[in-house]
Amino acid sequence: MNTSQLEAYRDQLDKLRNRLSGEVEELVQEIDINRLATHEHDADTSEEINADIKISQNEANILADVKSAIERIESGTFGVCVDCGKKVPMARLNVIPYAAVCIGCEIIREAS
Ligand SMILES: [Zn+2]
Repeated sequence: MNTSQLEAYRDQLDKLRNRLSGEVEELVQEIDINRLATHEHDADTSEEINADIKISQNEANILADVKSAIERIESGTFGVCVDCGKKVPMARLNVIPYAAVCIGCEIIREAS
């Protein structure tokens, strides 16, 4: 991978990080507001809160992956599978620029 390709991924990851941290923050605020407004037996609202919590957790996980991908760019190990050390194909990085593992290792992780 050359420098300009790396820069392009870095750009993409930076944007993703900014967007996700904004979204996670908004969701957390929304959850807090809903929680304050909710009476204990209000099933609809608590379902809504639970859905928001799930989304925010999911986004927080992706955000953590994005941050470590940026760290890997800085340490020069971006595009290398963190599990097996093989190259992560660029076709995969183009879809998921924060992918930490190759497809083979992803399957192993999901199975375990
Ligand atoms: Zn791997």
